[in-house]
Amino acid sequence: MGSNCVIESMGSNNQERRRVGLIYDERMCKHSTPDDEDHPENPNRIKVIWDKLNASGIAQRCVVLDAKEAEDKYLALVHSKNHIDLIKNISSKKFDSRRNKTASKFNSIYFNGGSSEAAHLAAGSVTEVAEQVAKGKLDSGFAIVRPPGHHAEESEPMGFCLYNNVAIATSFLLNERPELGIKKILIVDWDVHHGNGTQKMFWKDPRVLFFSVHRHEFGSFYPGGDGGSYTMIGEGPGTGYNINVPWENGRCGDADYLAVWDHVLIPVAKEFDPDMIIISAGFDAEKKADVSLRARRSSCRGHIELESKEESSSSFLRFFTAFEVGRGSGLWPPFLF
Ligand SMILES: [Zn+2]
Repeated sequence: MGSNCVIESMGSNNQERRRVGLIYDERMCKHSTPDDEDHPENPNRIKVIWDKLNASGIAQRCVVLDAKEAEDKYLALVHSKNHIDLIKNISSKKFDSRRNKTASKFNSIYFNGGSSEAAHLAAGSVTEVAEQVAKGKLDSGFAIVRPPGHHAEESEPMGFCLYNNVAIATSFLLNERPELGIKKILIVDWDVHHGNGTQKMFWKDPRVLFFSVHRHEFGSFYPGGDGGSYTMIGEGPGTGYNINVPWENGRCGDADYLAVWDHVLIPVAKEFDPDMIIISAGFDAEKKADVSLRARRSSCRGHIELESKEESSSSFLRFFTAFEVGRGSGLWPPFLF
């Protein structure tokens, strides 16, 4: 556990203070492309954020947590044994000669000697922040982690994602820490890509409302297919607990985004009444992000409004954000919630 600093509530005239957690560890920067070739998912994505938070004095006002590696038994809540074994061992010497070949079998995946440790730290750190928020030791938090997670499926890394960090943390609270009283979790995935992995992991689970807004282009945009369609609503007891808002055409802006929040997400969230909200936060829809991904022309101010809408619509403050895949390195908007 780091410093005990807290952030004062914005606009508050009294001494009400909020404890905002941050988690970051440089070891997550050791995961990089094998030959250091350029790649949108690179160590600078989190390093720039961390440096900016420190330079601006924000980090010093937060509770900085120590990163943790995820334990196998918690990874196994959403991933198969084969998958865990692969990610655990992929950075070992015995994989040196076939690491690249193994990566090439997957969709948009690279591995190097730092991948295993970084993946375990990312999953464990998101889980750590979630647990501290659930315990009430933090009011909210931000996990600055990589590799990202929302594309990772039960038995398959994909889309730069090795473990599904948010799904692991969600399942951990619901199944391993029932005494903390988190019975319903709302996952808001605002990355420009659909969170295919997270959707599948809670497809039949009414305890988790998965909401994703993403570029879809009638199934032609990554990860492709019908998975991100609005017709995908869950199954069995989970029917109605999966909501996709697919952008079929690019260049949507803040107004479109806010309309979805006002007319879809917030009303549903109020009715669902979750005990915690977890944001799967990719910022690849930002105006300044990779030009090929500008499905939405969302702005920094737009993201601030979205987060404040989510928070103010809740009767609780158990709320945190996990950094997801984003291609605009260092473009994280400078705000905390
Ligand atoms: Zn993305």
